[in-house]
Amino acid sequence: MRKSVVAIVGRPNVGKSTIFNRLVGERISIVEDIPGVTRDRIYAQAEWLTTTFNLIDTGGIEIGDEPLLVQMRQQAEIAIDEADVIIFLLNGKEGITAADEEVAKMLFKSNKPVVLAVNKIDNPEMRDEIYEYYSLGFGEPFPISGAHGLGLGDMLDEVVKHFPNNEIEEVKDDTIYFSLIGRPNVGKSSLVNALLNEERVIVSDIEGTTRDAIDTHLHKEDQDYVIIDTAGMRKRGKVYETTEKYSVLRALKAIERSDVVLVLIDAETGIREQDKKIAGYAHDAGRAIIIVVNKWDTVESNEKAIKEFETKVRSHFQFLDYAPLVFLSAKTKKRLHTLLPAINLASENHAKRVPTNVLNDVVMDAIAMNPTPTVKGRRLKVLYATQVSVKPPSFVVFVNEPELMHFSYERFLENKIRDAFGFVGSPIKIFARRRQ
Ligand code: GDP
Ligand code: GDP
Repeated sequence: MRKSVVAIVGRPNVGKSTIFNRLVGERISIVEDIPGVTRDRIYAQAEWLTTTFNLIDTGGIEIGDEPLLVQMRQQAEIAIDEADVIIFLLNGKEGITAADEEVAKMLFKSNKPVVLAVNKIDNPEMRDEIYEYYSLGFGEPFPISGAHGLGLGDMLDEVVKHFPNNEIEEVKDDTIYFSLIGRPNVGKSSLVNALLNEERVIVSDIEGTTRDAIDTHLHKEDQDYVIIDTAGMRKRGKVYETTEKYSVLRALKAIERSDVVLVLIDAETGIREQDKKIAGYAHDAGRAIIIVVNKWDTVESNEKAIKEFETKVRSHFQFLDYAPLVFLSAKTKKRLHTLLPAINLASENHAKRVPTNVLNDVVMDAIAMNPTPTVKGRRLKVLYATQVSVKPPSFVVFVNEPELMHFSYERFLENKIRDAFGFVGSPIKIFARRRQ
């Protein structure tokens, strides 16, 4: 099921990132008194009651040195393009400005649900001051205080009311959803095209494709795939589409809908810092991952070259030790035939369930071989283990005291589970829980 997306729009300094942080529950973006401070995260998951949704702080997408009004217009456009519901944030201490009216007009025309929130209403006496905001035509304004966390519940109740029913949109039968991520020019579009033009691949466009990405349907050897192509969206020529933050946002949305993420690396230019950052997003999301080393035609290809490149990749991407490497060329199609089988395997492993009795045999054998650690005379005791979910496979290990489960021991158990069941391509998660 696709998560609904909420975007916050408003002038600089009205409190967008303050609200964003409040709703996301961690201080992940930097709030400072200087308007337009660079922020780290602009897209994150938030929760209200039983609903999880994604939140965008459009203010975090910097659009260069454009005049305020131009920037506001672009932020509003992003919100209209990306979000299911828009929170239009105003500053209750400043009233309605010309820029607010301009944005209001755009949002109004878009027909997107808009929830009007008036921020910096820090105490109940100020609540009377919000009536002028009715004039914007978005119905009841919600008085809130991001700084003090007031009024957010009522505002969110209204936001959630407007969520579309996403349940029927994506029927995830056996179809494998995958996306390609990587820095500009690694060959994402070329690889998509190479896959689509491959022999014996049947391609069709999907009806009702979301605006987020171009979804393409492939069928090969009895397997259905959907490629979620974000790179292909770059053609609309909107200014903000070239900004890095925006492309990250696009990539995150694609990752979220994927079973398998292909992390592309350019064999010609080698590994860059940005590659790691991008790969980190896929890892954090718990998706199956394949590292695709593209442009392999530019390298003299033999076993030795492959080994050397692999060593380099492994040392740069230690957190992705479970991800297999595929070397290929989108341009010459060399080794391209190895990609779909790797995707099939990673996807199968991502959804794999192992029998509880076999799992416990493996865990107990591991413990017999490498006894559990002791901390200050107390020894970790493992009672039993069970798999609680898939995508990614997640295991709960019941122990006497979870604090005694050291990271390195958890890692050891993870490796034993991997050795026994072969989760190539998929991350796995282990949680220690107390049980007497
Ligand atoms: P943004 O530019 O819209 O993201 O605004 P920020 O979140 O960076 O906030 C701008 C300034 O307003 C900061 O100094 C915040 O501390 C302050 N601020 C945010 N919310 C509130 C609020 O509810 N009440 C008051 N008094 N100040 C706030
Ligand atoms: P994107 O920005 O990641 O979508 O990258 P593109 O698919 O637009 O490719 C960027 C450039 O790399 C283009 O000039 C491609 O022709 C080139 N390219 C893509 N794949 C390969 C490859 O396998 N080998 C070589 N030599 N060039 C490639």
